[in-house]
Amino acid sequence: MIRKIVFYPEPVLRTVGKPVEEVTDEIRELAADMLETMYEASGVGLAAQQVGEAIQLAIVDVSHDPECISYLRVNGEEKELSEVCPLTFINPKLELVGKKEADVEGCLSFPDLRGDILRPSEVKATVETLDGETLVIETDGLFSRAIQHETDHLFGKLFIDRMSSAKKLAIRRQLKEMQEQYG
Ligand code: ZN
Repeated sequence: MIRKIVFYPEPVLRTVGKPVEEVTDEIRELAADMLETMYEASGVGLAAQQVGEAIQLAIVDVSHDPECISYLRVNGEEKELSEVCPLTFINPKLELVGKKEADVEGCLSFPDLRGDILRPSEVKATVETLDGETLVIETDGLFSRAIQHETDHLFGKLFIDRMSSAKKLAIRRQLKEMQEQYG
């Protein structure tokens, strides 16, 4: 079932997600709905907060672009993106490595807003799956960026927080309009 994506400044987007202690049928259904919702909106990632649920559950799928990474290891083994995506993960812990790189990001909770965001290029993410597995995912490129963007959501952080002060100034009016429209 497609769920409604909430837009900035909906307060749930600023809410730190509760860790998922137990994967219930409700959580599985939410995760399946989130995938459907993300594909319908042509996104590459979606966090539970974006459909109104403040829990640590997110999804990422960047497999449309196999060239967007230069490596991918899961629990130490080399993998293809298509073997790992769509990735549904809970309770992530990230170690960020590599030098910071800027690239354009968008967010389904900010229609029409895009901007350069500086992030460490590589990530080592320790996540849990809905089947109770723990995965250590090491990667770079768009996959790293998307995992970082979605993990930010799970902790109430938004990509606008990571924009340069010049960019923040430039989008002030747009944010104000969103506050009026969706607040
Ligand atoms: Zn987002």
